[in-house]
Amino acid sequence: MSNFPGESNIKKTINFKDTEDTEDTRDTRDTRDTRETEDKEQSRMDLVLRPGLINPGNECFINSMMQCLAVSPFIYEFIQKYMQDDREMIDIIKKYDLNLLDIDCIKDRIVELLETNLSIPANERFILSKIANKCGDFYIYICFKEIMIALQTRRQPVENCRAFIKITSEIAKEGGFDYLFSGEQNDPHEFLVYLLDKIHNAKSSKVKIDIPANADKLYLKLYLEHFKKRYENDFSMFVKNFYYYMLTCIECHNCNDITYNVNPNDIMCVNLPDDWQHKPSLSLDECIADYFKVEAIDYQCEKCGNKLHNRQDKKLLTKPRTLIIKIKRYTQMGNTLVKVNKIIEYPSVLKLNPYLCSGEAGNYELYGVINHIGLLNSGHYYSFIRDFYIESGKNKFSQNWMVCNDTQVSHLDTHEAINSKNAYILFYHII
Ligand SMILES: [Zn+2]
Repeated sequence: MSNFPGESNIKKTINFKDTEDTEDTRDTRDTRDTRETEDKEQSRMDLVLRPGLINPGNECFINSMMQCLAVSPFIYEFIQKYMQDDREMIDIIKKYDLNLLDIDCIKDRIVELLETNLSIPANERFILSKIANKCGDFYIYICFKEIMIALQTRRQPVENCRAFIKITSEIAKEGGFDYLFSGEQNDPHEFLVYLLDKIHNAKSSKVKIDIPANADKLYLKLYLEHFKKRYENDFSMFVKNFYYYMLTCIECHNCNDITYNVNPNDIMCVNLPDDWQHKPSLSLDECIADYFKVEAIDYQCEKCGNKLHNRQDKKLLTKPRTLIIKIKRYTQMGNTLVKVNKIIEYPSVLKLNPYLCSGEAGNYELYGVINHIGLLNSGHYYSFIRDFYIESGKNKFSQNWMVCNDTQVSHLDTHEAINSKNAYILFYHII
């Protein structure tokens, strides 16, 4: 797996052009100006605690995740990017007196409006069609955004996710995901996957992706083609800032032929190393090394037909800006999964260099931790977070950590923040 191209080469080969957002450049500039003013404000608030979140029952898995997302640069940038788009959609919803919660009827109502009211201008028709197609996702996004802004601006000492949970539980019935919002204890990872999918859908649009025809490596060509096919009709800021690509290489033991596969990825779920029971201590670095280890694979070579001793290797083909890592702290005991309560050390600066195709530096800074105490299917989640601000155009994190435990938020010693024995999900941002 040598001679991988630098990621900078990959970046240069893809040009994004929003076909639905002709004022993209101006928006970005405006956003940056607003953001720098806000960031001065944010750094002043650095020592002020964030609001807590009310937990009406078993919603600590939502609360702990919300607190980490509210200090995530990729969420902040997403919200800023689509502010104008949101305003336009909300204005249209008000103008035509639409009820977003009326999921069953809103599409018919918009179709009827478009058919009967021919004086509706083209730009409003376009927005109305978008609302008809994405009403549920858009409503979840708007409610989510409210919580993020409330947490970031510290309007109250305590906030709650009640409206968000009520609305999302209704909308989630369609895909059978309402169990996540039923008042039962659930997993913050499952909640995050559902939420990010909805937020991405709420804002995804068609873009023009230009890729060069002369990619010099086969796997690079595969990646570019996959990227174009996957995201040209389904692009949002998450694609740039959160999603990343893995490259898998399967090497035939007999003829050394290599088969490449490229896969988009989001949250990295790492297992405990195979020999974890025999180790006196465990670290995240070991879990990640295990995740990227060369493995035997049951695969028949397409070239020579050999099925024996073939191996699979994987690397990061693109570098995520934000990396969320879930440590699968459980093991099979007979027919049941049991939680492993062993200390797993995690670094404040994570180095991913060995796992990058490009061989470039890949250092990541810790800014959030979701902890779990108790048993696998019960227990409690709480989080450690630290604020971020912008300095000279770069995201910087405060040195001041906070612990958020539902309504209770307090300052936290840095040593405790990076030495939790209950760490379950870790949030890293590229340095
Ligand atoms: Zn072969």
